Amino acid sequence: MIERTFAILKPEVFTDERKDIASFIYKLLDLNRIKIVDIRLIQMTENEVKQFYKEHEGKDFYLPYVKHMSNKDLVVMILEGEDVISKWRELMGSTDPSQARVGTIRYMFGKSTSVNYVHGSSSKEAYEREVKMFFKEI
Ligand code: ADP
Ligand code: MG
Repeated sequence: MIERTFAILKPEVFTDERKDIASFIYKLLDLNRIKIVDIRLIQMTENEVKQFYKEHEGKDFYLPYVKHMSNKDLVVMILEGEDVISKWRELMGSTDPSQARVGTIRYMFGKSTSVNYVHGSSSKEAYEREVKMFFKEI
């Protein structure tokens, strides 16, 4: 089924010493028949990050992670393609890069469970909640 998902290229994509990670990811999307429907360079306030990651509130990594994601350049995207919710998560790899499958973005670039370079909606419901926060007109 052709569907959409919401993706973030996290701040570490743009501060990594390897300068071409974003363009590598755009190419990877294209080669895997995933279309970028909309894309924006933004920064999130601390409150927006807290809202976005509300399900993790109270966990030990939550506040440092919120700080890490706040007030830094990052890219948000709407992706479209066949089964793209699971396909994009497959390309991302496991949350913990040391557990990620070879060839995945998190395997190739991820530094730690918190510094893992990319976000992707985990379900259709998550996509609908997440996309509204950044693409209000969709
Ligand atoms: P995913 O991004 O794979 O969907 P989660 O939704 O569980 O993973 O967590 C959201 C983000 O919070 C992760 O991508 C990661 O950056 C951070 N995170 C999750 N669990 C941990 C953890 N145990 N330690 C540090 N950071 C974490
Ligand atoms: Mg998640």
